[in-house]
Amino acid sequence: MRIAFLGPPGAGKGTQARELAREWGVPQIATGDILRSAAAAGTPLGREAARIMATGALVPDDVIMGLIGDRLRQPDAARGSIFDGFPRTIGQAEALEKLLKERGEALDVVLFFAVSEAELLRRLTGRRVCRTCGETFHVASQPPQRAGVCDTCGGELHQREDDSEATVRRRLEVYSRQTEPLLALYESRGLLRRVHGEGAIDGIRAELKRATEAVAGRGGAAR
Ligand code: ADP
Ligand code: ZN
Repeated sequence: MRIAFLGPPGAGKGTQARELAREWGVPQIATGDILRSAAAAGTPLGREAARIMATGALVPDDVIMGLIGDRLRQPDAARGSIFDGFPRTIGQAEALEKLLKERGEALDVVLFFAVSEAELLRRLTGRRVCRTCGETFHVASQPPQRAGVCDTCGGELHQREDDSEATVRRRLEVYSRQTEPLLALYESRGLLRRVHGEGAIDGIRAELKRATEAVAGRGGAAR
């Protein structure tokens, strides 16, 4: 199965993608996470990406496609992948289609997470992320058992630099201008499934599983 998780920042794509990837034994390919590790490693690409991410803008398509190309060449991606936060522009969607086609593959489904803007703002500004394993928490609605400490691995929790209110607003603007047009594109390909992104994490997870199992039952995409 090759799935893309599409939706605004803060829609909960990462939380759900991580769980589903674990369950299916396929990699979660999150371009934001890849960029953040390049930034942490201090590579030239990482430093440039960090500068762009801090403003809430998007990293250029050719940089992203280079990262995706490298990632798909790793053996664990042969069985499938969950793309999380990618593609994010029409250019990336077209480049992905081409890249997968060359490999004799295609996207099976695109899951869109619908969440209101007020809820996105609340989630993002209260979000805390584990420095070690990437697990996410929320100060009010999903607090860790011990403040500042990850329940999963004991790592340190911190607030992402781009989760400040001003940058969150900018990210939402960038999303509506550059990413929202992908909804119509994938709708026209018959790949789009909508998931209610608000409510309990388990409820969303159940809805998402129904949506993906319906596709798996059809035997995946027609090649
Ligand atoms: P969120 O979905 O909450 O915005 P991400 O971790 O997916 O978080 O993305 C954080 C930032 O990383 C984005 O604001 C953008 O600058 C950069 N980024 C991530 N994925 C992409 C992508 N596919 N194309 C361009 N920039 C990206
Ligand atoms: Zn952790």
